[in-house]
Amino acid sequence: MNENIRKVVPYVPGEQPKRKGIIKLNTNECPYPPSPRVKKALSGVDYERLRLYPDPAASDLVDNWAKRCGLNKDQVFVGVGSDDVLSMCFLTFFAGERPITFPDITYSFYDVWCDVYRIPYEVKPLKDDFTIDIKDYTKGDFGGVVIANPNAPTGVALSLCDIEKIVKANKNCVVIVDEAYVDFGAESVVGLIEKYDNLIVVQTFSKSRAMAGMRIGFAMGCPTLIKYLNDVKYSVNSYTMNYPSIVAGTAAIKDENYFKKIVSRVMSTRDRMEKELAELGFSFNKSSANFIFAKHESIPGAEIFERLKKRKIYVRHWDKERISDYLRITIGTDDEMDRLIDALKEIIGSIE
Ligand SMILES: *Cc1c(COP(=O)(O)O)cnc(C)c1O
Repeated sequence: MNENIRKVVPYVPGEQPKRKGIIKLNTNECPYPPSPRVKKALSGVDYERLRLYPDPAASDLVDNWAKRCGLNKDQVFVGVGSDDVLSMCFLTFFAGERPITFPDITYSFYDVWCDVYRIPYEVKPLKDDFTIDIKDYTKGDFGGVVIANPNAPTGVALSLCDIEKIVKANKNCVVIVDEAYVDFGAESVVGLIEKYDNLIVVQTFSKSRAMAGMRIGFAMGCPTLIKYLNDVKYSVNSYTMNYPSIVAGTAAIKDENYFKKIVSRVMSTRDRMEKELAELGFSFNKSSANFIFAKHESIPGAEIFERLKKRKIYVRHWDKERISDYLRITIGTDDEMDRLIDALKEIIGSIE
């Protein structure tokens, strides 16, 4: 029996603690609620309709997102969060024998999908300062390329021009740009999909649109690639997106002002946090995301992580080569950030 079983080492998501009264800065969720229009739309959800299967194409959602992005609907694929979208992309576009490539320090789901789908891959180490050397991705015969931009967990973004160089240099494979955090200060390459038929851009409603609980993500690319994605999706599960999610997502898209407001609030809190963390002896790259990836000058990451947790403040720490001294701190509300800074002052004061 054993040899017939597919065995994988799964991705480990950040904790979703049940304890009351915690400050949760460990999974890059938005500290603000979704648009009030989402609340209104959900209250109008017809409960009787739950007995029917949802629209398999989630057309309301796809059409509105396409319109919002200035695209045609045949350039948009929707999935249950961008994890679902990325997983479908790996399954669809990386079916060849040549290894695909991505950085050694990046979203830790990529190597998990490679393992589960048996996709050969090779990682390219980030430079010592945790930036990407684009030459690593412009010379080589890859089966695919995956770049998170801004990168996670580093928060460092490449320019549109650098991403374009990577896409241009890899005409023989699909290049996926995972833009989970792009709204917090990086340049989106969605505009390049008209120009390059090997480019797939992935975005999510989980971070900048405050809807991680709804599970909504998109891939944008040329109609041919989107068709291939849908063919695979309909070969796995037709009814991925549930009816309330379609309703809520569609309402969120129609409130662009609210979206801009919460994103700019998170960005200004982040800019203030960067100053405060630097004063406490932390160093980090300038973040283009809704988190800061920081290292203290004298106290190990694991120690700060544990001590914060005792104070009911959850951040993210990886016991992994090159990054074990770092903490990834999600930007919360201003009040949550003040309490984090107070806790860090106490911790640092009690050790130094
Ligand atoms: C959060 C995240 C995702 C997945 O988010 P979903 O909630 O599945 O949309 C994908 N890529 C990166 C880099 C992320 O940080």
